[in-house]
Amino acid sequence: MRLIFFGPPGAGKGTQAKRLEEVRGLKQLSTGDMLRAEIAASSDIGLDAKSYMDKGELVPDAVLVAMIEHCITEPDCAHGFILDGFPRTIPQAKALDAMLEKHGTPLDAIIEFQVDEEELFARVRRRAEDSLKNTGSVRSDDNEDVLKNRLKVYNDLTAPLLPYYRDKGLVKAINGMNPVGQVAADVDNALSGL
Ligand code: AMP
Repeated sequence: MRLIFFGPPGAGKGTQAKRLEEVRGLKQLSTGDMLRAEIAASSDIGLDAKSYMDKGELVPDAVLVAMIEHCITEPDCAHGFILDGFPRTIPQAKALDAMLEKHGTPLDAIIEFQVDEEELFARVRRRAEDSLKNTGSVRSDDNEDVLKNRLKVYNDLTAPLLPYYRDKGLVKAINGMNPVGQVAADVDNALSGL
C-alpha cells in the first residue's frame, strides 16, 4: 500500500506514520527526518537545506524529488510506504506521479489530517518542551516565529495539492483534533476498504 500523509506541521502525520510502519510494515518516508539526518552528517545537501529549514522555507524541489526517487525503489519499500512531508508543492506532486507511473506503483490514498491553527501552535510548543526535557535540544524550526512561516508556506504552496488529489478521488479526511488513539482508529478505518 502506498500512502501520502498530508497536513500542516504538527498535525500528527509522523506519529501515525510510525504506528502504521510498525503494524503494517509500511516504510515511513519522512523528508524532514531525512533532511535532518543530512544536516547531522554535515553533508552538502544538509548544509544547503539547513538555511531554508531554519527560516521555515521549503528546500528546492529537485533535492526532495531525487531523495524520494532513490528511497521508493529500495527493498524496504517493497511492501509499500507512507510519504510523510512529501510532496509539498505541485511540481513535487507531478514528479511523484511520473516516477510512480514509471515504476507501475500508483498511490492508494492521501490521508488528510485536519487540525486548526491554534492547536498546531500548542502542539509544536509542547513538542519543543518535551524534546528539550528528553534530549536537551530542540529542532531549530520548532519555535513560534518559524512555525508562523511554515504555516504560511503550507497554506500558499502545499494546501493547493488537496484539490489536485481530490480530482483524482484519492483524499480521505481525518479529524486530527481527536486524541491519538481515536485518530489511529480513524486512519485504520479509512484504509480498511483499500
Ligand atoms: P517537517 O519535518 O516535515 O516539518 O520538515 C521540516 C522542514 O524540512 C520543512 O520546513 C522544509 O524546510 C523541509 N522539507 C521537508 N520536506 C520537504 C519537502 N517535501 N519539500 C521542501 N522542503 C521540505
